Amino acid sequence: MSVSGGTRPSSLSAVQRAIISCQRCPRLRSYCQQVGRTRRAAFRDQVYWARPVPGFGDPAARVLILGLAPAAHGANRTGRVFTGDGVGSSGDFLMAALKRAGFSNISTSQRTDDGLALRDAYIAAAVRCAPPANKPLPEEVDRCLPHLIDEVAHLENLQVVVALGKIAWDAWLKASALGGVALPRPRPAFAHGAFVRLHPGILVGVYHPSRQNTNTGVLTPKMYDQVFRAVRRALR
Ligand code: SF4
Repeated sequence: MSVSGGTRPSSLSAVQRAIISCQRCPRLRSYCQQVGRTRRAAFRDQVYWARPVPGFGDPAARVLILGLAPAAHGANRTGRVFTGDGVGSSGDFLMAALKRAGFSNISTSQRTDDGLALRDAYIAAAVRCAPPANKPLPEEVDRCLPHLIDEVAHLENLQVVVALGKIAWDAWLKASALGGVALPRPRPAFAHGAFVRLHPGILVGVYHPSRQNTNTGVLTPKMYDQVFRAVRRALR
């Protein structure tokens, strides 16, 4: 399930190296480094990753989970997507759902040495650098799309993309259009539980597992379970 046919790094690890060394967005690079220098009090003794965060997971994945961006003191600290943003955080909520659905071997994501292994799933973010206030600029999302296109080009078994929130949803549609995929008209709107058949693949929308959604009951574990069960059924 490739979305582009251009020249790209020759392997998934080469794509990941290119992401890690990217400097295309001065505002984001400078913010990530500044967060890494000042640090949160609880992490004062740690060396922050403070670089762009590549995707993580099973290279043979049929399912891509697409998030928004690294958290300043989460993945920007640990270097692994959805990792270290606090107990009960979005990473834990997502990983618990993936564990229940059989895509993960553990149900938390707080440390890079936790033995986490994804099966049949790969997690990436639409934007690879932590943005101030978790809000990337539209041009920063656009600038980062080639990394997503390059990364999924090496996920040869990909069938379903689960977009965590509207920005990830729109980013996937844009990446698909850039890659020559003919999108349905009107362009599909994001909704929790939306399934859209693209050619190739299926795009699924779910609410982002931010504390704002999970602490207020806007998003519950049951809602993720229903969607991931449907994702499983959609796999060939
Ligand atoms: S957000 Fe993406 S394009 Fe911008 S500097 Fe980070 S990795 Fe590069």
